[in-house]
Amino acid sequence: MLATLIYRSRLNHALDPSQLATLVQQASERNSELQVTGVLLFDGKQFLQVLEGPLTAVNAVFARISKDSRHVSVVELMRDFAPHRRFLDHGLVLFDLRANKTSSVMRTIIKFGTLKHHLASNDRVYKFIRNFISSPMPVKHVENISVRDWCLNTKVPPFEMANVPLLKNQPCQFAFQPIIEPSRGNISSLEALIRGPDGGSPHDYFSTIPGHKLHEADLASKGWALAMARRLGIGNHKVAINLLPMSLVKIPGAVNILLDHITRNHLDPEQVIVEVTEDEVISNYEEFTSAIRQLRATGIGLAIDDFGSGFAGLSLLAKFQPDKLKIDRTLVTDIHMHGPKQAIVKAIIDCCAEMQITVVAEGVEKVEEWCWLSAAGIERFQGFLFARPVLNGVSSISWPQRVVDF
Ligand code: C2E
Ligand code: MN
Ligand code: MN
Repeated sequence: MLATLIYRSRLNHALDPSQLATLVQQASERNSELQVTGVLLFDGKQFLQVLEGPLTAVNAVFARISKDSRHVSVVELMRDFAPHRRFLDHGLVLFDLRANKTSSVMRTIIKFGTLKHHLASNDRVYKFIRNFISSPMPVKHVENISVRDWCLNTKVPPFEMANVPLLKNQPCQFAFQPIIEPSRGNISSLEALIRGPDGGSPHDYFSTIPGHKLHEADLASKGWALAMARRLGIGNHKVAINLLPMSLVKIPGAVNILLDHITRNHLDPEQVIVEVTEDEVISNYEEFTSAIRQLRATGIGLAIDDFGSGFAGLSLLAKFQPDKLKIDRTLVTDIHMHGPKQAIVKAIIDCCAEMQITVVAEGVEKVEEWCWLSAAGIERFQGFLFARPVLNGVSSISWPQRVVDF
């Protein structure tokens, strides 16, 4: 199958643009051997390249480019499949925007390509090309931030205890993971993640519970989670708990039971955030709405978890305007290298800003991901980069800190 891939990148400052023609010639020969064709546009600073060919060959060429130090900030923009090549000549053809009038470049590319003029105007590949030629993508601040300006500074969190022993008869355990706001050096909350008696995952734990007892066990476990949070000495910090939405619907008086767990542990309802995932919400929409009304009436916070991983998406956001929205790890992973993820996350950030909803990025593992997300405007983060969940305790937190040049 014929695959198409478009990426953009910047030329490494250290490289002299006059060497470009030689480099393109070498790349062109390598690509031809792999039956990869395409065009390369260069505006003096940035590249836009279209690669066409067998999927494995395109992937191999792109993997090589991603590692090539002559390119920086390589961002994948489009991946697709096509019935035939848009650019027939084998290898790589350079269109240097510095040497030609922009209006003529587009005409030349259309003439060079295989698509008829009227088809080219609606073709996504040509739209990327046209956009690059007419308004070369500004080098946004998001790409300008440098990972090398940052280091991580590990500190013990300000809780009374780092670990707490289990209470008698406690049927489950919890691992706590901080959600942090690095720009303020603030811990915005601790998320309680359920674990089985042997430390097993949430899935392992819930699979030992008979189906008809699932929601009861889920709700009851929050009493243990909040008791552990109190014993850790969270003070005025917030604690986030995960609940199946149906645990609030199916258990009579669920919100009052939760409130009781909260007050018994000397916490305020405003200190507690309930996280629910979008998949489970939509399947039982009416009942869930009334449970949420009750929850909000007590002052307990609401967060939509794993946003972007399910199907409900933006319509859910209009219906339940939560206090917080957690962007799923699938969107966060390698966001610094992926144009479509960047476009989606930017839209989520804009939506949430207008609705005054706080955005949290989940599953941040790389400094590059954190750099991109914070430059795009996200302030709250959770992930292994900063702190891993720790069974019955809280780990030290690695805070990003600007490297000071002496
Ligand atoms: P979640 O609420 O989205 O929790 C985050 C999950 O991502 C946790 O997995 C956490 O360990 C993991 N994680 C955090 N940072 C990173 C990272 O940087 N990289 C990677 N690869 N993973 C990261 P965990 O603890 O296995 O929990 C899985 C899910 O189980 C949770 O996802 C939540 O939906 C559910 N869950 C957890 N506790 C409870 C509970 O008490 N009740 C219910 N109903 N569900 C729960
Ligand atoms: Mn969660
Ligand atoms: Mn999540």
